[in-house]
Amino acid sequence: MAAQVRRDDVVVVAQFLGDPVPVAAVIAATVDQLLLVASLFWALAANRLFLGQALKERALAEPQTWGFALALIVLLASLHYLLLAPLANRWTVKPLIALLIVTSAFAVHFMQAFGVYLDPSMVRNVLRTDVAEARELLSWSLLPHLLIYAVAPLLLMSRVRVLRSPWPRASVVRVASALAAGAVFVATLVAVFQPMASLMRNHKELRYLATPANVLWSVAAVGAAQARGAAQPRQAIGLDATLAPAVARVRPLVVVLVVGETARRANWGLSGYARQTTPELAQLPVINFADVTSCGTNTEVSVPCMFAPLGRRDYDESRIRGSESLLHVAAHAGVAVHWRDNQSGCKGVCEGLPQDEVVSLNPAGICAEGHCLDEGLLAGLDDKLAAAAASPKPGTQLLVLHTLGNHGPSYFRRYPPAFKRFQPACENDDLRLCSPQEIVNAYDNALLYTDHVLASLVAKLQAAADRVDTALIYVSDHGESLGENNLYLHGLPYAISPDVQTQVPMVMWLSAGLPRAVGLDTACLQRRATEPAAHDHLFHTVLGLLGVHTALYEPAWDLTSACRTVAP
Ligand SMILES: [Zn+2]
Repeated sequence: MAAQVRRDDVVVVAQFLGDPVPVAAVIAATVDQLLLVASLFWALAANRLFLGQALKERALAEPQTWGFALALIVLLASLHYLLLAPLANRWTVKPLIALLIVTSAFAVHFMQAFGVYLDPSMVRNVLRTDVAEARELLSWSLLPHLLIYAVAPLLLMSRVRVLRSPWPRASVVRVASALAAGAVFVATLVAVFQPMASLMRNHKELRYLATPANVLWSVAAVGAAQARGAAQPRQAIGLDATLAPAVARVRPLVVVLVVGETARRANWGLSGYARQTTPELAQLPVINFADVTSCGTNTEVSVPCMFAPLGRRDYDESRIRGSESLLHVAAHAGVAVHWRDNQSGCKGVCEGLPQDEVVSLNPAGICAEGHCLDEGLLAGLDDKLAAAAASPKPGTQLLVLHTLGNHGPSYFRRYPPAFKRFQPACENDDLRLCSPQEIVNAYDNALLYTDHVLASLVAKLQAAADRVDTALIYVSDHGESLGENNLYLHGLPYAISPDVQTQVPMVMWLSAGLPRAVGLDTACLQRRATEPAAHDHLFHTVLGLLGVHTALYEPAWDLTSACRTVAP
């Protein structure tokens, strides 16, 4: 076995008060021994979730369960050995293991704390997280976990001296040991093939719990996709787009699309939640779509998908990321497009188009510690509407506001004190230190604030309604788990995600002149809003409202198309 202590390796590593004092044993080990110990360490210490899920449907008393558990541990250890063996040599082995120990410790903490899976889209999310977001995820409870699973093994490894070996011999040993690991992997797999195959078929997402292989695989997948994307320019779409001649239009048209964050339908007052979390919108003539399904369970998937012609119904991530978006199509038609961000950017959908961010605008009393309240999104909107009204030709504009919404886990940081209405609210970045009710209270307060921001936006549009026709569409990018089945936050693989992560609120408001200007029956639209809808409808509905003609437009996916008195 690896890591035996050898007497002659006990050396003096520090000097104390001038006298040489032997303070610690240094353990000598070969690269292969170190790899083996690390692989066993991860199999046993970083895969409690994987093993728990894999063995969930088995009886603990049955000997087969224990046999299967042992096989899974052997598979995990041999897999990690195989993955690392080609990369390890006398110089790289320690940095490589150290990096993976630290990564695994963080990964396991977040998987356990929030019930997330580390798949490529989660890694993409993590890589795009800004400093302010990351700070909220680091809590004091992380410290003991890191001490046990990162600091302790790192200290232990610092005591290891890697034995030198002439490179021809080292290479032969490495290849032989990798072959042995491969043989062990295959033999074990053959022995448990039947239960293993059915487990992986029924629970594909399990592989994203095998740590740190999940991190290695996901980082490689994201890197490969990034390299492919960087090698090709974004493919242009909708180059045929034109604006319909505005027959009945005498006023400028401004469509405002508000992209919500992490708002779930289950807690949306207008959609029947027992608590009134949308008191201001409830006083307005809004059209509430009560059954809307999101394209993804996280921002990185949902936002590009919402702005693509084919959404979830024919999901193709690389095609979506490699193509222009709804915003480019509108711009090709001559619509003035602008993206305003109060979150982590537009995920490529506004690439090359006019954009700004609230944090740089820095409106008075709105921003602190790198985050701004969503009211900042409305800064300067009155002037924008006045300018649209003053323009000699009635133009068409599309304004997208990307909110911070209910971005977790620090829901309490999303609203000003006036919205602390549901009490007591969780006011800790670490959700596990709060009771379930406190978490829900903070989440609902953040929804109250979103309600206020949207109602304020409607008030501004209403104030300009005699000069500018306007439409507001609000839709959240995905939902959130608030502790149901011990799940928190969002981002579960779509196939196994609970409804609370994929059912989102969506609201429309139209200025009084708009239905006449674009030929729309609002009573019909109210009825349509009671039927199911999805993110897939957004692309075509917005094109329909703007009056953009293109071969990409599919009337069947335009929520307003059945309610037109004049074809768009
Ligand atoms: Zn999001």
